[in-house]
Amino acid sequence: MSGYDVSAVRSEFPILEHEVHGHPLVYLDNAATSQKPRAVLETSRRYYEEINSNIHRGTHHLSQQATASHERARDIITSHLNAGSREEIIFTAGATDSINLVASILGYSGSIGPGDTIAISNFEHHSNTVPWQMLCDRSGARLEVVPVHEDGTLDLDAFHRVLEDREPKIVALSHISNAFGTILPVENLTEAAHRAGALVLIDGAQAIPHLTIDVQALNADFYVFSGHKAYAPTGIGVLYGRRSLLDKLPPWRGGGEMIRKVDYAGTTYNDLPYKYEAGTPNIEGGIALGAAFEFLQGLNLDAVHRHETVLIEQAATALSSLKGVKLYGPPDRAGALSFNVEGIHHYDLGTLIDRMGVAVRTGHHCCQPLMARFGITGTLRASFACFNNENDVQRLVAAVEKGTEMLR
Ligand code: PMP
Repeated sequence: MSGYDVSAVRSEFPILEHEVHGHPLVYLDNAATSQKPRAVLETSRRYYEEINSNIHRGTHHLSQQATASHERARDIITSHLNAGSREEIIFTAGATDSINLVASILGYSGSIGPGDTIAISNFEHHSNTVPWQMLCDRSGARLEVVPVHEDGTLDLDAFHRVLEDREPKIVALSHISNAFGTILPVENLTEAAHRAGALVLIDGAQAIPHLTIDVQALNADFYVFSGHKAYAPTGIGVLYGRRSLLDKLPPWRGGGEMIRKVDYAGTTYNDLPYKYEAGTPNIEGGIALGAAFEFLQGLNLDAVHRHETVLIEQAATALSSLKGVKLYGPPDRAGALSFNVEGIHHYDLGTLIDRMGVAVRTGHHCCQPLMARFGITGTLRASFACFNNENDVQRLVAAVEKGTEMLR
């Protein structure tokens, strides 16, 4: 794989030097959470060792340093996503938190009411399903689910029928399915949903570590993700929201920072982005997310994506040649490869290959309705990152082959 020095990339991830059950670690659970490179670990350590303090409210030196670093991270994220302005980048605790924020403020604002429709797809993670169900319960709206074809792609005809027949107020879709790795054609879907009059939220939790995201070209109203799947710490995430919309929508959580003036007769709220950032944020996490994006930019995200795609194709080819292996999702998947072996429970095989040092995810991947659609309780999912290499693929395939023999 010319031009991409995976050995150099691997040397940036200290955890890869560790053994698991006496074997060098093969980490293929990046869709659940990615490992962290030295640049991110160092940033977090330096934050606590050198500038730890609360932001925005302090006049002292450390507070100003921490504030400047935190706001600089917002600028890095703004440019990484090509957002129109830094006010559109809201720090949250993660994708789940961002989706709950959007669902709540759309509810508070009365944007959704009895008889209205909220459309999602059968791919959605529980965190892009349950907040909308809760909003339906509160508002009297109904949830419409766009089905998924047997080949693991979205039923586009059904999507367009839902837009036409139900005229949904909100359409919420994942960019990449965390369960199957399917890439959804989100630009086209967003355009069609807008033409039908809907607001569009894209769940980018799985896209952010693999694809170059341009929120202006994509043109969705909201784009959400977590930092921890993109080499940053847990507990930090982002809501990108169109400024003209967020300016009009009401605040969500009340507290410090989100106010301009508090008076018992009535409180006035802060401007964006602080209007949606009540309370002390995950300061270190925000700064480390900036460092993670700089790390990714340094690798060149397109090169990372090409590298990962070659590995996923190698794994798909090798696994599908093993007896009884069924792959899920289309061949042009990104990030994750889901499979089952006939007659063997995913949990048993996952546990066995862990003993061989190979970490994959087993289970429903927080997509129970998708698993039900395919008549399964779960899959094994190998998910890739910038540091995985051909040896990881070979170790995975060998472990699946050996584990299968042991369980048969
Ligand atoms: N959406 C998708 C597609 C995901 O894969 C995940 C995490 N598995 C989430 C949302 C939720 O992310 P978090 O738990 O970090 O909030």
